[in-house]
Amino acid sequence: MPVTSDKRAVSWAFDATVVLAGLVLGLVGLLELFDPDVFSSTWAIALLLGPPVTVLMSRFPLVLTRATAGIEVGFDSAVLVFLACFQGGHGALGIWAVGQTVSQLTTGKRYDVRAFNVGLGILSGWVTLLVMRSVGGLGTGQPRELLAVGLGCAALFLCDYVISAVSFALEDATPVRAELRQSTATAAALGVFVAIDSLGYLAALVARLLPPWAGVLLAVPVLTILVATRALSRGAEHQRRLSALFDAAAEAQVVETGAELELVLRDSVRAAVANRMADLSDDAPQPRQIGARIRAGSRTLWLVAPAANRARASVEADRKALVALATVGEEAFARLRLTDEMGRLARHDSLTGLPNRTLFLDRVGQAVARSRRNDTTLAVLFLDLDGFKGVNDRFGHAEGDELLKTVAARLVGCVRAVDSVARLGGDEFAVLLEGVDSLAELHELCHRLLASLRREIRVQGHEVVVGASIGVAVADVHDDAPGLLRNADMAMYRAKAQGKDRFFVYQTSLREENVQRLELIEALRRGISEELVVHYQPIVDLATGRIDGVEALVRWQRGDQLVAPDAFIAAAEQSGLITELGERVLSRVVEDAASMQESAGHPMSVSCNMSAHQLRDPDFLDLVERSVAQLGANRLVLELTETVIVSDDDETDHALRTLRGLGAGLAIDDFGIGFSSIGYLQNLPVDSLKIDRSFIRDVDVSPRAAALVEAILVMGAALDLTVVAEGIEREGQRDCLARAGCTKGQGFFFARPQPLPDLLALLRSRRADVIDEGGDEVPGAAAALGR
Ligand code: C2E
Ligand code: CA
Ligand code: CA
Repeated sequence: MPVTSDKRAVSWAFDATVVLAGLVLGLVGLLELFDPDVFSSTWAIALLLGPPVTVLMSRFPLVLTRATAGIEVGFDSAVLVFLACFQGGHGALGIWAVGQTVSQLTTGKRYDVRAFNVGLGILSGWVTLLVMRSVGGLGTGQPRELLAVGLGCAALFLCDYVISAVSFALEDATPVRAELRQSTATAAALGVFVAIDSLGYLAALVARLLPPWAGVLLAVPVLTILVATRALSRGAEHQRRLSALFDAAAEAQVVETGAELELVLRDSVRAAVANRMADLSDDAPQPRQIGARIRAGSRTLWLVAPAANRARASVEADRKALVALATVGEEAFARLRLTDEMGRLARHDSLTGLPNRTLFLDRVGQAVARSRRNDTTLAVLFLDLDGFKGVNDRFGHAEGDELLKTVAARLVGCVRAVDSVARLGGDEFAVLLEGVDSLAELHELCHRLLASLRREIRVQGHEVVVGASIGVAVADVHDDAPGLLRNADMAMYRAKAQGKDRFFVYQTSLREENVQRLELIEALRRGISEELVVHYQPIVDLATGRIDGVEALVRWQRGDQLVAPDAFIAAAEQSGLITELGERVLSRVVEDAASMQESAGHPMSVSCNMSAHQLRDPDFLDLVERSVAQLGANRLVLELTETVIVSDDDETDHALRTLRGLGAGLAIDDFGIGFSSIGYLQNLPVDSLKIDRSFIRDVDVSPRAAALVEAILVMGAALDLTVVAEGIEREGQRDCLARAGCTKGQGFFFARPQPLPDLLALLRSRRADVIDEGGDEVPGAAAALGR
């Protein structure tokens, strides 16, 4: 039962002891053989025939497989049994020792392995003979002799098995008990072993009782058994290769890294060929090795296994197993590459190839840790393009994408190679800067970024300019990656609010303001259904002083405080609450309109302020339709600022025309402070202009202001638009405007915005005045209304 695996140096001492013991016993056996009392011509023949028969028998072993090596159970010990039973057994050990030595010398195994196997073989033989002799009856043909043979064979098997197991255990540094438990087939092997080795006894009986030629009779059963054993071993080998392949395929499916996969392949190739010298290597197989190539991307790996001194059929089967295993490996490497690529895609923006938010946050996180370790400063920049939406709307998304790519390239061109530029989504970008030495350096970079983005970009033959607003956050000891990005974002908003195309460096006060803003939004969300009130400010016919209409102005009754819209409209717009707010105001206005009309005694228009978000809300269009139906035609006016009305996209234009089609009037609010131009005015579906009160302020004292207002009035008249002057606070302003041809006005001079009951009282008293004076209204009467 020789050990087939190669050994490491760990068990040298044990192995050496076995070798030594075997050699000493072998020598003693030889001395005994050549003792003249023992040596005979028969023994001489046995000495000649024994070794070749031993070699032959040992070439047909039964292999017991273990994970990465095998124990071969050889049947050469039948020779020992024969020698033991023939002629009383004296001198058997010497012949056996020679046979073992010759048998091992003719294998191609490593010298230390051969030596160990010789030692082990002789030692086991000695134990066997000891057991047989102590049972007794050798050479008698009595049943006792059969018993001795059985027990002797069992002792041989066990001795060999246990010593091999101990050697393995020492070499692998595993518990001996685990080694002994290795094979469940061990018991079966023992049975087969004893039975087959008993053939040696049969041979001894034949030799004792029959003429020598009768030995030929034994050849048939012996050969049959040897061939059957070989087939059995082949089956086991096959099974071993298959199960190694299955295990490899299953494990390769779940590994997550190349290194793990290499480990699996290394273990699998050893298990498949049951040889510890098999390996996964960067080098192609050498002579006397077999190998299969694994292509892993740009890398080439090899599964290699020793092929020397093995049956050709076994080597061929091993080679096939290696090729199959290589395929498993290649597939798994391909899967890992794909997973890698998917991971890369998931962490990069597909349009620009820049890192996306996830990867950027990762990098910022690492940079934060580094900056703490090295005591350096890092900064995060949050960039938002200023005019991107316009480009997208005007030229389409494909061109918008091209522009984003150009922007990405410019940003990358502005920073150092060590800095990270990322696209966070839409037209938002971010930059991570490490090792920032001074604020001045940061400012300089921001200026550089802004200047590079201000340069024209060619889109479909047009030169377009998109600026950017940049928020800067310099890391504080407490900041983590998401916090830094949030701060930079907040600062960017401030840069936008301050007029775009600039940068703003985050300061803690921003956070407080932001917290306050969020609290405000939360409070508004809670109070929106109960706490909104609508005040009305009259719009007056400047010639007659008659109240022709009102503008609805929302207020928020927050506790006992009446909050002006300037304090919460912007927050409502940012949070999306503005749609609900607008709907509530409009519904209230529709409810109140009937009583106004009744109090006034004549038809009145009602104006409602509207924000851009509402234009895109289909529910709002429905509400307008219902409101118009309730109020009657030409009664509802929707006020929109220039920036909303002029935004050059089809969607807005469509919404405005729809509102117009529903029967609502459209007014341009705060006219004059936006980018008014006659050119666009004539194409807009609007009915009136409201001149911003900043133009009215000096109209009665400054000729320049008066000239400007007159120009607006001329323009309005040319386009057939009603012009309303806002913010009239003095009689002089009113007179001046009336003289210039302005027909309608609104302002504290006539009336402040007021709650419905006050408005109704005012309307009723005006009506009484008119009746008192016989319906002959005079412009001067309006002065009395000013508070
Ligand atoms: P606006 O549409 O320009 O409203 C006119 C603002 O001018 C009102 O301020 C009004 O009180 C004020 N005002 C009227 N006459 C005079 C005057 O003689 N002198 C001066 N100095 N001011 C005068 P208010 O009520 O604070 O509203 C501010 C802004 O809030 C409004 O400006 C409007 O843009 C917005 N707003 C008000 N209500 C709503 C609403 O229901 N929805 C929307 N989206 N915005 C609203
Ligand atoms: Ca208004
Ligand atoms: Ca206004």
